[in-house]
Amino acid sequence: MVLLLGALGVAWFVLRILAGKADERRRQAREERMAALYEERERLLAESHAAEGPSSIAAVVSDADPPSVAAREIVKVRCRACGALEDEKATVCGKCGAEL
Ligand SMILES: [Zn+2]
Repeated sequence: MVLLLGALGVAWFVLRILAGKADERRRQAREERMAALYEERERLLAESHAAEGPSSIAAVVSDADPPSVAAREIVKVRCRACGALEDEKATVCGKCGAEL
């Protein structure tokens, strides 16, 4: 009985060690994956920076504003006389006729 308990104790001890090593391996694998993902992200940012300039970086980094919203705001110009939003290419305000 004592021998059996001793064997169980040893088996439990060995299982604990093996489980600990498995956890260690999982943690290492996760850290390697994260490092690889981070490097991939850095590489993509560097590539888009080289290819398209700072504005594309902002589009990649910022999750808040979709690029289409910023694009719509860029092509509109506000009339100084009445405050209406007109197309950037327009020369006169479509609402009050003032020069833009
Ligand atoms: Zn106007």
